[in-house]
Amino acid sequence: MSDPCILCVAITGSVPTKSANPNVPISIAEQIESTQEAFEAGASICHAHVRNDDETPSSDPDKFAALKEGLEKHCPGMIIQFSTGGRSGAGKARGGMLSLRPDMASLSVGSNNFPTRVYENPPDLVEWLASEMRQHEVVPEIEAFDLSHILQAIKHHQDGKLYGRLYVQFVMGVKNAMPADKAVFDFYVEQVKARAPDAAWCAAGIGPNQIVVNEWAIAAGGHTRAGLEDNVRLDRDTLAPSNAALIARAAKLCEKYERPVATWQQAREILGLRSVTF
Ligand SMILES: [Zn+2]
Repeated sequence: MSDPCILCVAITGSVPTKSANPNVPISIAEQIESTQEAFEAGASICHAHVRNDDETPSSDPDKFAALKEGLEKHCPGMIIQFSTGGRSGAGKARGGMLSLRPDMASLSVGSNNFPTRVYENPPDLVEWLASEMRQHEVVPEIEAFDLSHILQAIKHHQDGKLYGRLYVQFVMGVKNAMPADKAVFDFYVEQVKARAPDAAWCAAGIGPNQIVVNEWAIAAGGHTRAGLEDNVRLDRDTLAPSNAALIARAAKLCEKYERPVATWQQAREILGLRSVTF
Protein backbone atom coordinates (compact mmCIF):
# COMPACT_ATOMS: atom_id res chain seq x y z
CA MET A 1 0.00 0.00 0.00
CA SER A 2 1.42 3.37 -0.95
CA ASP A 3 1.66 6.40 1.34
CA PRO A 4 -1.54 8.15 2.34
CA CYS A 5 -2.25 11.40 0.53
CA ILE A 6 -3.21 14.43 2.62
CA LEU A 7 -6.02 16.48 1.09
CA CYS A 8 -6.21 20.13 2.13
CA VAL A 9 -9.36 22.13 1.51
CA ALA A 10 -8.84 25.84 0.82
CA ILE A 11 -12.36 26.93 1.63
CA THR A 12 -12.59 30.67 0.99
CA GLY A 13 -9.38 32.56 0.20
CA SER A 14 -9.24 36.32 -0.04
CA VAL A 15 -10.40 36.75 -3.65
CA PRO A 16 -13.45 34.76 -4.85
CA THR A 17 -16.84 36.28 -4.03
CA LYS A 18 -20.39 35.00 -4.25
CA SER A 19 -20.72 36.77 -7.59
CA ALA A 20 -18.11 34.33 -8.97
CA ASN A 21 -19.74 31.34 -7.27
CA PRO A 22 -22.55 31.63 -4.70
CA ASN A 23 -21.18 28.51 -2.97
CA VAL A 24 -18.04 30.30 -1.72
CA PRO A 25 -18.45 30.29 2.08
CA ILE A 26 -18.11 33.81 3.49
CA SER A 27 -19.68 33.95 6.94
CA ILE A 28 -18.15 31.90 9.75
CA ALA A 29 -21.29 29.71 9.83
CA GLU A 30 -21.00 29.05 6.08
CA GLN A 31 -17.30 28.31 6.45
CA ILE A 32 -17.91 25.76 9.20
CA GLU A 33 -20.66 24.01 7.24
CA SER A 34 -18.61 23.93 4.04
CA THR A 35 -15.53 22.61 5.87
CA GLN A 36 -17.55 19.89 7.57
CA GLU A 37 -18.75 18.61 4.18
CA ALA A 38 -15.18 18.67 2.84
CA PHE A 39 -13.91 16.90 5.99
CA GLU A 40 -16.46 14.15 5.36
CA ALA A 41 -15.28 13.97 1.72
CA GLY A 42 -11.68 13.33 2.83
CA ALA A 43 -10.03 16.66 3.61
CA SER A 44 -7.84 16.55 6.72
CA ILE A 45 -6.50 20.13 6.60
CA CYS A 46 -8.66 23.25 6.45
CA HIS A 47 -6.77 26.24 5.01
CA ALA A 48 -8.75 29.31 5.99
CA HIS A 49 -8.98 33.04 5.46
CA VAL A 50 -11.77 35.06 7.08
CA ARG A 51 -13.92 37.75 5.49
CA ASN A 52 -15.92 40.79 6.50
CA ASP A 53 -19.69 40.82 5.91
CA ASP A 54 -19.11 42.72 2.65
CA GLU A 55 -16.85 39.83 1.49
CA THR A 56 -13.62 41.87 1.73
CA PRO A 57 -10.69 40.05 3.38
CA SER A 58 -10.21 40.43 7.12
CA SER A 59 -7.36 39.76 9.56
CA ASP A 60 -9.62 40.02 12.62
CA PRO A 61 -8.36 37.56 15.29
CA ASP A 62 -11.90 37.37 16.76
CA LYS A 63 -13.21 35.98 13.47
CA PHE A 64 -10.38 33.44 13.33
CA ALA A 65 -11.15 32.48 16.94
CA ALA A 66 -14.83 31.91 16.14
CA LEU A 67 -13.92 29.82 13.12
CA LYS A 68 -11.43 27.73 15.11
CA GLU A 69 -13.98 27.08 17.82
CA GLY A 70 -16.60 25.97 15.28
CA LEU A 71 -14.19 23.74 13.38
CA GLU A 72 -12.99 22.05 16.57
CA LYS A 73 -16.60 21.31 17.43
CA HIS A 74 -17.88 20.20 14.03
CA CYS A 75 -14.71 18.70 12.49
CA PRO A 76 -12.95 17.13 15.48
CA GLY A 77 -9.35 16.22 14.72
CA MET A 78 -9.15 18.16 11.47
CA ILE A 79 -5.96 20.20 11.07
CA ILE A 80 -6.65 23.93 11.23
CA GLN A 81 -4.39 26.08 9.11
CA PHE A 82 -4.81 29.86 9.08
CA SER A 83 -3.58 31.98 6.22
CA THR A 84 -1.04 34.69 6.97
CA GLY A 85 -1.13 35.74 3.32
CA GLY A 86 -3.72 37.28 1.11
CA ARG A 87 -3.52 40.76 2.57
CA SER A 88 -0.29 42.00 1.16
CA GLY A 89 0.60 45.35 2.68
CA ALA A 90 -1.24 44.62 5.92
CA GLY A 91 2.11 43.93 7.65
CA LYS A 92 2.02 42.37 11.10
CA ALA A 93 -1.80 42.30 11.10
CA ARG A 94 -1.34 39.22 8.88
CA GLY A 95 -0.05 37.29 11.90
CA GLY A 96 -2.35 38.70 14.58
CA MET A 97 -4.20 35.39 14.91
CA LEU A 98 -1.13 33.18 15.48
CA SER A 99 -1.49 33.47 19.25
CA LEU A 100 -4.70 31.42 18.87
CA ARG A 101 -2.32 28.49 18.23
CA PRO A 102 -3.82 26.93 15.11
CA ASP A 103 -2.09 23.66 14.18
CA MET A 104 -0.57 25.30 11.12
CA ALA A 105 -0.36 28.60 9.28
CA SER A 106 0.64 29.39 5.74
CA LEU A 107 3.88 31.32 5.32
CA SER A 108 5.27 32.99 2.22
CA VAL A 109 9.01 33.48 2.32
CA GLY A 110 9.44 35.66 -0.76
CA SER A 111 7.66 38.15 -2.98
CA ASN A 112 6.26 37.76 -6.47
CA ASN A 113 3.65 39.18 -8.79
CA PHE A 114 -0.02 38.32 -8.43
CA PRO A 115 -2.68 38.94 -11.13
CA THR A 116 -3.05 42.67 -10.42
CA ARG A 117 -0.44 43.52 -7.79
CA VAL A 118 2.83 42.68 -6.11
CA TYR A 119 2.55 40.10 -3.34
CA GLU A 120 4.94 41.66 -0.86
CA ASN A 121 6.72 39.50 1.69
CA PRO A 122 9.71 41.55 2.86
CA PRO A 123 12.44 39.72 4.84
CA ASP A 124 11.67 41.42 8.17
CA LEU A 125 7.98 40.46 7.98
CA VAL A 126 8.83 36.86 7.03
CA GLU A 127 11.23 36.64 10.00
CA TRP A 128 8.61 38.08 12.34
CA LEU A 129 5.84 35.71 11.16
CA ALA A 130 8.22 32.73 11.47
CA SER A 131 9.22 33.77 15.00
CA GLU A 132 5.56 34.16 16.05
CA MET A 133 4.90 30.66 14.71
CA ARG A 134 7.84 29.28 16.73
CA GLN A 135 6.62 31.02 19.86
CA HIS A 136 3.09 29.64 19.51
CA GLU A 137 4.17 26.20 18.18
CA VAL A 138 2.45 26.65 14.83
CA VAL A 139 3.84 24.55 11.97
CA PRO A 140 4.21 26.64 8.83
CA GLU A 141 3.11 25.49 5.40
CA ILE A 142 5.44 27.28 3.01
CA GLU A 143 3.62 28.72 0.01
CA ALA A 144 6.13 28.51 -2.83
CA PHE A 145 5.10 30.65 -5.78
CA ASP A 146 8.58 30.43 -7.26
CA LEU A 147 11.70 28.25 -7.09
CA SER A 148 13.53 30.79 -4.93
CA HIS A 149 10.83 30.39 -2.26
CA ILE A 150 11.57 26.66 -2.01
CA LEU A 151 15.30 27.18 -1.58
CA GLN A 152 14.71 30.03 0.88
CA ALA A 153 12.37 27.84 2.96
CA ILE A 154 14.94 25.05 3.10
CA LYS A 155 17.56 27.55 4.29
CA HIS A 156 15.23 29.02 6.95
CA HIS A 157 14.46 25.50 8.15
CA GLN A 158 18.15 24.56 8.33
CA ASP A 159 18.76 27.75 10.29
CA GLY A 160 16.14 26.73 12.84
CA LYS A 161 13.73 29.51 11.97
CA LEU A 162 10.74 27.33 11.05
CA TYR A 163 8.86 25.40 13.73
CA GLY A 164 8.37 21.66 13.20
CA ARG A 165 8.72 19.55 10.09
CA LEU A 166 9.35 21.40 6.83
CA TYR A 167 6.22 21.32 4.66
CA VAL A 168 6.38 23.05 1.30
CA GLN A 169 3.48 23.70 -1.04
CA PHE A 170 4.14 24.40 -4.71
CA VAL A 171 1.55 26.86 -5.98
CA MET A 172 1.23 26.84 -9.75
CA GLY A 173 -0.94 28.73 -12.17
CA VAL A 174 -1.27 32.10 -10.42
CA LYS A 175 -1.37 34.65 -13.23
CA ASN A 176 1.98 36.49 -13.49
CA ALA A 177 3.70 33.97 -11.19
CA MET A 178 4.87 30.38 -11.90
CA PRO A 179 2.60 28.66 -14.45
CA ALA A 180 1.44 25.05 -14.03
CA ASP A 181 4.34 23.48 -15.90
CA LYS A 182 5.09 19.77 -15.55
CA ALA A 183 8.84 20.07 -16.14
CA VAL A 184 9.09 22.74 -13.44
CA PHE A 185 6.90 20.67 -11.11
CA ASP A 186 9.17 17.63 -11.58
CA PHE A 187 12.21 19.82 -10.91
CA TYR A 188 10.60 21.18 -7.72
CA VAL A 189 9.97 17.64 -6.43
CA GLU A 190 13.50 16.57 -7.29
CA GLN A 191 14.99 19.62 -5.54
CA VAL A 192 12.99 19.13 -2.34
CA LYS A 193 13.92 15.44 -2.21
CA ALA A 194 17.61 16.17 -2.81
CA ARG A 195 18.02 19.23 -0.59
CA ALA A 196 15.56 18.49 2.23
CA PRO A 197 15.02 14.71 2.35
CA ASP A 198 13.05 14.96 5.61
CA ALA A 199 10.59 17.51 4.24
CA ALA A 200 7.08 16.74 3.05
CA TRP A 201 5.53 18.53 0.09
CA CYS A 202 2.20 19.26 -1.49
CA ALA A 203 0.96 21.16 -4.52
CA ALA A 204 -1.94 23.35 -5.57
CA GLY A 205 -3.06 24.55 -8.98
CA ILE A 206 -5.17 27.62 -9.65
CA GLY A 207 -8.35 27.68 -11.76
CA PRO A 208 -8.50 24.92 -14.40
CA ASN A 209 -5.02 23.86 -13.24
CA GLN A 210 -6.41 22.63 -9.92
CA ILE A 211 -7.32 19.17 -11.15
CA VAL A 212 -4.16 18.99 -13.27
CA VAL A 213 -1.84 19.74 -10.35
CA ASN A 214 -3.90 17.50 -8.04
CA GLU A 215 -3.15 14.63 -10.42
CA TRP A 216 0.57 15.44 -10.73
CA ALA A 217 0.97 15.60 -6.94
CA ILE A 218 -0.99 12.43 -6.23
CA ALA A 219 0.90 10.50 -8.94
CA ALA A 220 4.28 11.75 -7.67
CA GLY A 221 3.65 10.71 -4.04
CA GLY A 222 2.98 14.19 -2.61
CA HIS A 223 -0.02 15.76 -0.96
CA THR A 224 -2.45 18.17 -2.56
CA ARG A 225 -4.95 20.98 -2.10
CA ALA A 226 -8.34 21.72 -3.64
CA GLY A 227 -11.16 24.10 -2.87
CA LEU A 228 -13.00 27.23 -3.89
CA GLU A 229 -10.15 29.58 -2.88
CA ASP A 230 -8.15 28.34 -5.84
CA ASN A 231 -10.86 27.35 -8.29
CA VAL A 232 -14.62 27.93 -8.42
CA ARG A 233 -15.43 25.60 -11.33
CA LEU A 234 -15.71 21.89 -12.04
CA ASP A 235 -15.18 22.63 -15.73
CA ARG A 236 -15.56 25.51 -18.15
CA ASP A 237 -19.36 25.47 -17.98
CA THR A 238 -20.03 24.22 -14.45
CA LEU A 239 -19.60 26.03 -11.15
CA ALA A 240 -18.38 23.82 -8.32
CA PRO A 241 -21.36 23.07 -6.05
CA SER A 242 -19.19 23.00 -2.91
CA ASN A 243 -15.72 22.64 -1.49
CA ALA A 244 -16.59 19.01 -0.84
CA ALA A 245 -17.13 18.41 -4.57
CA LEU A 246 -13.59 19.60 -5.33
CA ILE A 247 -12.17 17.43 -2.54
CA ALA A 248 -14.18 14.43 -3.78
CA ARG A 249 -12.64 14.94 -7.22
CA ALA A 250 -9.12 14.79 -5.73
CA ALA A 251 -10.07 11.77 -3.61
CA LYS A 252 -11.14 9.98 -6.80
CA LEU A 253 -7.70 10.62 -8.27
CA CYS A 254 -6.16 9.07 -5.15
CA GLU A 255 -8.13 5.93 -5.96
CA LYS A 256 -6.82 5.96 -9.52
CA TYR A 257 -3.22 6.07 -8.26
CA GLU A 258 -3.93 3.66 -5.37
CA ARG A 259 -3.11 6.25 -2.71
CA PRO A 260 -5.29 6.01 0.38
CA VAL A 261 -6.69 9.38 1.43
CA ALA A 262 -5.01 10.29 4.73
CA THR A 263 -7.22 10.34 7.79
CA TRP A 264 -6.73 13.32 10.10
CA GLN A 265 -4.76 11.06 12.45
CA GLN A 266 -2.43 9.99 9.64
CA ALA A 267 -2.09 13.58 8.42
CA ARG A 268 -1.12 14.76 11.91
CA GLU A 269 1.48 12.00 12.13
CA ILE A 270 2.94 12.70 8.67
CA LEU A 271 3.23 16.42 9.42
CA GLY A 272 4.51 15.94 12.99
CA LEU A 273 1.64 17.93 14.49
CA ARG A 274 0.43 17.74 18.07
CA SER A 275 -2.12 15.02 18.62
CA VAL A 276 -5.53 15.92 19.87
CA THR A 277 -7.65 14.30 22.52
CA PHE A 278 -11.36 14.68 22.99
ZN1 LIG B 1 -5.02 31.05 1.11
